[in-house]
Amino acid sequence: MSGAHYDVAIVGAGIAGASAAYFLAPRARVVVLEREAQPGYHTTGRSAALFSETYGNASVRSLTRASRAFYDAPPPGFAAQPLLTPRGVLFFGRKEHGPRLEAQAAELRATGGRVEWLRPEEILARAPALRPEWAATGLYEPDAEDIDVHALLSGFLRGARAAGAQLLTDAALEALQHDGRRWTLHTRAGDIRADIVINAAGAWADEVATLAGATPLGLAPLRRTVIVFECPRFTDTARWPATVDATEDLYFRPEAGRLLASPADETPSPPCDAQPEELDIALLIERLQAATTFDIARITARWAGLRTFAPDRALVAGFDPMRPGFFWLAGQGGYGIQTAPAMGQLVAALVRGDALPAALAAQGVDPATLDPKRFSRTTT
Ligand SMILES: Cc1cc2nc3c(=O)[nH]c(=O)nc-3n(C[C@H](O)[C@H](O)[C@H](O)COP(=O)(O)OP(=O)(O)OC[C@H]3O[C@@H](n4cnc5c(N)ncnc54)[C@H](O)[C@@H]3O)c2cc1C
Repeated sequence: MSGAHYDVAIVGAGIAGASAAYFLAPRARVVVLEREAQPGYHTTGRSAALFSETYGNASVRSLTRASRAFYDAPPPGFAAQPLLTPRGVLFFGRKEHGPRLEAQAAELRATGGRVEWLRPEEILARAPALRPEWAATGLYEPDAEDIDVHALLSGFLRGARAAGAQLLTDAALEALQHDGRRWTLHTRAGDIRADIVINAAGAWADEVATLAGATPLGLAPLRRTVIVFECPRFTDTARWPATVDATEDLYFRPEAGRLLASPADETPSPPCDAQPEELDIALLIERLQAATTFDIARITARWAGLRTFAPDRALVAGFDPMRPGFFWLAGQGGYGIQTAPAMGQLVAALVRGDALPAALAAQGVDPATLDPKRFSRTTT
């Protein structure tokens, strides 16, 4: 492998790197470098696995809408089971949260999102654990779905390999140089050469950019905490929606016979193997006890992951303005799974110099909103 030459080297085998590899591999020699022993070990393996076309800013929403077709009808053999299953999202609140949810409903409707107002008894029918005072106002998004993240990640990596891509694990990128024509990447698994480097390193994307001599974008990794718990009082939870409070300080949802909950925290963190903090879990339990009648019998799992945002909370995809052949695929924030099919297609088109696929343009995807140059423009 040492000294092997590729058209494209992708740094990071999370959902971003895997989707780019999948769409690039049929027409390019691709290698994916992953520091860990397993792909998806960091943020990709720690998500809440939700697909919502109303989540995020306009740029994010266009990518999510443009991903829907792939999720609904992936290529034959991509996955053994459907990638999406119906879930729904219920936003709930006390009486004083009514105006906030009304504004949210107006904005979602204006951008084509399907939402329904629920009466208090309808809120409680869908989320029987809520205390009645927390079910005073409610908004329901019927089209939100669960994503089978494992099937999506495996499908991308399997498809990329079938088209000739190589995945190297335990292959941390430690240094890279450009000789005026191509990149040399020094990795834990040996040196490789590539014409183009795609920086899909998640929370480490600014660090990888620094290795390449590019200017960091000011990406912010923000820690988010999750617990899974058993609750004997409510056993028939499988059809409950993902349930989010109006101020987005709490959400919970069914998780394979148990319940998953998060305080929706956003604590700045250096790039690392994020771990949950006791304080965040205590805060989550306090919020759950205030808003619901859950009796938390046992916490069966707890984890944290880093959601990494660009300063404007839109994703980043495009060539660096200063470093030749250095391509950013970063800032996936809280939307990296749901947007991955469209992002993979967009990246493949931009890297090859092709036109934006018509299906993406039809959903309003605008490469200018994703281009890393948007940050250099604001600083000059
Ligand atoms: C609690 C939580 C809930 C979430 N819920 C949702 C949701 O409902 N829906 C949704 O769409 N998204 C959700 N997200 C966000 C989503 O998980 C992320 O946007 C997405 O996983 C980011 O993928 P990534 O490939 O950019 O990063 P990662 O999965 O972190 O992958 C980056 C990879 O790069 C590797 N790497 C870094 N540096 C190097 C190096 N020098 N050499 C080699 N490899 C390197 C890392 O080891 C890592 O595997 C959630 C996230 C969290 C934490």
